[in-house]
Amino acid sequence: MTEEAFDVVVVGSCMTDLVSQAPRLPKAGETIHGHKFFIGFGGKGANQCIQAARMGAKTAMVCKVGKDFFGENYIQNFKDNGVDPSFLSSSFRSVTSAFVTSAGENAIVIVAGANLLLGGEDLQQALPALSHAKVLVSQLEVSPDTSLQALRLAQENNVKTIFNPAPAIPDLDPDFYRASVVFCCNESEAELLTGVAVATVEDAGHAGQELLRRGCRSVIITLGSQGCVVLSGQEPSTGLHHVPAKPVTAVDTTGAGDSFIGALAFYMATFPTMPLQEMVSRANQVAGVSVQKIGTQASYPYKKDLPNNLF
Ligand code: ADP
Repeated sequence: MTEEAFDVVVVGSCMTDLVSQAPRLPKAGETIHGHKFFIGFGGKGANQCIQAARMGAKTAMVCKVGKDFFGENYIQNFKDNGVDPSFLSSSFRSVTSAFVTSAGENAIVIVAGANLLLGGEDLQQALPALSHAKVLVSQLEVSPDTSLQALRLAQENNVKTIFNPAPAIPDLDPDFYRASVVFCCNESEAELLTGVAVATVEDAGHAGQELLRRGCRSVIITLGSQGCVVLSGQEPSTGLHHVPAKPVTAVDTTGAGDSFIGALAFYMATFPTMPLQEMVSRANQVAGVSVQKIGTQASYPYKKDLPNNLF
């Protein structure tokens, strides 16, 4: 274990995506011919960590991977992207199998396997990294208890936290809000958590106010091509800020939210005094680059692909 502090530590999931493209989805009991198959690296936690690393953050991932070919491949993927794999452990298997049609419909089976076994013991082993990180990021693709424990450990050690409640679950433990310096979700997650239908920027403002009331310091709700809204408990008089995204030609928005969060984690760790609105505006631009290419991690930009004024 290295003594040097990490910029960003992510506690979360890794998934290997097995994607078959076909003209249509097969019916129950049916076998059809597809025209393309590919294996991709996914999982919300890993995606966010890889985006932060590609921007230049010193990162570590606390996760479990399968004890198999997929797990070995994933560990190599972390190494290739400069993510410290010291806090990885392996057991079981974790894969996602997806069918995607030419019309863009999909059907997905997730076998979360090893991800759900990430627990308190793993967090204790990662404590030296976790307690000295500049930013900790967690989501809900591992057990919610583990995510919350990670956030609490970070809070106890004055580490800034980004919590991404995805996939959203109803009746989220109220401590998640209190342990979030930044609570960042998309419109459907905001809707599920608050019961406020989110179709417009104004709606997002209402949902955001409700999330802020629950105890997080700041709330970001991402709104796809509309960018996002930012609310901060520290500035109630200035209220809600809409930070629009620059118009781009989007070809695949899969994983855009994770690119955004990875970039945000990089900015929070690297420019701690930068106003949140400015970080968010830059994170919008990074995620905006990712939607212009096909794939999840495959579409995430490296520092060299981004304009200098984002650094
Ligand atoms: P998720 O992937 O979680 O559904 P969003 O779709 O809200 O998240 O996208 C996250 C961020 O990615 C947005 O806030 C925006 O910055 C960027 N983004 C997503 N879709 C587009 C798009 N069509 N054009 C430009 N930016 C986009």
